[in-house]
Amino acid sequence: MDFRLTDEQAALRESVRDFAREVVAPVIAEHYERHTFPYEVIRQMGKMGLFGLPFDEEHGGMGGDYFALCLALEELARVDSSVAITLEAAVSLGAMPIYRFGTEEQKATWLPRLLSGEALAGFGLTEPGTGSDAGGTQTRAVLDGDEWVINGSKAFITNSGTDITAMVTVTAVTGTNPDGSKELSTIIVPTGTPGFTVAPGYSKVGWTASDTHELTFDDCRVPAANLLGARGRGFAQFLRILDEGRIAIAALAVGLAQGCVDESIKYAKERHAFGRPIGDNQAIQFKIADMELKAHTARLAYYDAATRMLVGEPFKRQAAIAKLHASTIAVDNARDATQIHGGYGFMNEYPVARFWRDSKILEIGEGTSEVQRMIIARDLGL
Ligand SMILES: Cc1cc2nc3c(=O)[nH]c(=O)nc-3n(C[C@H](O)[C@H](O)[C@H](O)COP(=O)(O)OP(=O)(O)OC[C@H]3O[C@@H](n4cnc5c(N)ncnc54)[C@H](O)[C@@H]3O)c2cc1C
Repeated sequence: MDFRLTDEQAALRESVRDFAREVVAPVIAEHYERHTFPYEVIRQMGKMGLFGLPFDEEHGGMGGDYFALCLALEELARVDSSVAITLEAAVSLGAMPIYRFGTEEQKATWLPRLLSGEALAGFGLTEPGTGSDAGGTQTRAVLDGDEWVINGSKAFITNSGTDITAMVTVTAVTGTNPDGSKELSTIIVPTGTPGFTVAPGYSKVGWTASDTHELTFDDCRVPAANLLGARGRGFAQFLRILDEGRIAIAALAVGLAQGCVDESIKYAKERHAFGRPIGDNQAIQFKIADMELKAHTARLAYYDAATRMLVGEPFKRQAAIAKLHASTIAVDNARDATQIHGGYGFMNEYPVARFWRDSKILEIGEGTSEVQRMIIARDLGL
């Protein structure tokens, strides 16, 4: 395998890197502090085509691939994870289910706005009572004439309550399979549908400039035609979406880990103690060398998973490995970068404080580290 980037991929990485430094970096700390959504940054990301990266031009996309999305996510997260997760969730969880499983009519209705970044969509799988165990889904949808009637609630849904959120797709129990297990299906619920309520945003430890809400559905009626893909295919659909999403989260985690290296090198050269820069001490140099080692190897892991996916090879185990490794080293690097910054690392005005607060969720969202280990073990025949 050759992991060197093509000229086109390198140019994309360069342009997103410049955007992150010039447009995101100057404004994001204030959004983070105030817990506000960075609409203007998101609008500009839309103009750059980032929301359409892995989609074909026929549906309004940029004609790139999932690897291109990962490169963009890494460069954004190198500066800020709230913006990166907004893009990751919008593409991988919001638009991708419609693109992969939708009818041509559903694609025509939703994709142009989602792929231009003009609108966002959420993906509602997790519920207040169940996350890792999706078989525990309680939300129900019953077909009444030509409408689905949905009752239940979803927890922690990204991009579900912004001013530009157009819809969410939700998983719901729609019956019982012949083996007695729950029949799960996925249904599109447009924003503003009566009976669909978006709770105020959570008070989060990190990703505070991203949008996350609990959703409730109380006799919420949508047309039968809003079923996404075949009835009963909900389980298979979200497994596919989450397998891909893990590669994207790994890329985001690598970006955060690399951002920790960037900030640590800068600070180690500037900060003096005992009459010389702290970076002159081998203890600090080795810490930064180890951080670079971790970011580099985690990057190779997600490049490998993405490459396998793009050539059509099985990639489930490699995606889980990439996500598990990258999220673990992101937490490590955030802790070490904070240590290198001393007391200033504990001050929110320093990017490493944001990295620290943003790192932990990477070991939880889109499948916890324990779930990744379960996937790897199962794939090894255990
Ligand atoms: C900011 C944020 C954004 C999110 N965005 C979305 C979104 O857009 N859409 C969405 O659907 N969800 C979203 N989530 C939910 C996220 O994916 C879940 O929180 C995650 O999957 C874990 O589920 P849980 O919180 O219910 O934990 P649980 O499943 O209750 O797990 C609790 C703990 O038990 C462990 N555990 C569970 N089962 C086992 C087992 N068999 N063996 C060993 N350990 C086990 C877990 O690993 C974890 O450590 C988001 C969460 C957050 C915090």
